[in-house]
Amino acid sequence: MEIKKVSLPEEKRKTKIADESQLGFGKIFTDRMLMVEWKGGKGWVDARIEPYAPFVLDPSCLVFHYAQEIFEGLKAYRWSDGSIALFRPEMNARRFNVSADRLCMPQVPEELFLQGIKELVQLEKDWVPSADGTSLYIRPAMIAVEPVLGVHPSDHYYFFVILSPVGAYYASGFNPIKLLVEDRYVRATPGGTGEAKTGGNYASSLKAGLEAKKKGYDQVLWLDGVNKRYIEEVGAMNMLFAYEDRIVTAPLDGSILHGITRDSVLTLAKSLGIKIEERKIDVVELMNDIRSGKVKEAFGSGTAAVVTPVGAICYRDECLTVDDGKVGKLTQKLYDTLSGIQTGKIADSFGWIQ
Ligand code: PMP
Repeated sequence: MEIKKVSLPEEKRKTKIADESQLGFGKIFTDRMLMVEWKGGKGWVDARIEPYAPFVLDPSCLVFHYAQEIFEGLKAYRWSDGSIALFRPEMNARRFNVSADRLCMPQVPEELFLQGIKELVQLEKDWVPSADGTSLYIRPAMIAVEPVLGVHPSDHYYFFVILSPVGAYYASGFNPIKLLVEDRYVRATPGGTGEAKTGGNYASSLKAGLEAKKKGYDQVLWLDGVNKRYIEEVGAMNMLFAYEDRIVTAPLDGSILHGITRDSVLTLAKSLGIKIEERKIDVVELMNDIRSGKVKEAFGSGTAAVVTPVGAICYRDECLTVDDGKVGKLTQKLYDTLSGIQTGKIADSFGWIQ
């Protein structure tokens, strides 16, 4: 599909932050965005890269009332030779369409998703920061814009992509976090939308997150929605536990997000000769295994931070420290290798880089 380039007058270009240590996350947006519309009977039309600007939308649009919305998150990295790399973007395209299917939204052809992102990033290449740990965060999203109050799939959608230069996640060091196992609120249930990347999942998780923060925890570790017994995932990370000779993580059985970093970590770990166990993790057993020292390391995986060390897990009245609250060797190795591949410092033997 041809993507039209709408001109951007020189005077409309924003000034970039010179000090990349001040970037933060998701606060600054580049000059342009990708925009494609889907109209009932016509399919995808009017693909364009245009100046970044607010939408003018009718207040009755379906997305505002019934949350028919999906999104993705990936990054572009600047390599030391100046080139720009994407990490497994086709996986985001596929997951976007899984989410679209669950929310009764149209499929975005994988070629359009990838071509749109590549052309946009190419035009905005000067926005990709170069300091260690920085990247250009890419946010594709689709919203239902039919102006009508009525619970049904929309007949009109916007698929758009915006870009945000982001700072180093670990600017203040690779610090282990403290998780609260949430045993009152739930995030997802079998048959629900847990596997889709849709705004509603995040809206419904806010209350638990806020209450946990007030009590001094960094994030919530979700349990399954039926038994409140099996470990699922963290707000925007999958969760992995390293035992002596293996990594244990929850199976992708419908209520957790198919993390691309999770898949990459597992592939990498396998290549290092580590056994992988995807199985239900009973929280009581997990706490016993942490207490007895069988769990050597715990970490989360996600696009934002790659790998996040977990130093303590708290369930009901008990807080247990994992690996003395230090950063484990395996956690560090997986982080170094994966972020090394993403930034071109380590050769990509998996075919992950585009
Ligand atoms: N779980 C949830 C709920 C998330 O939002 C994310 C972030 N996309 C992840 C897991 C990690 O997925 P990925 O590794 O693809 O970023």
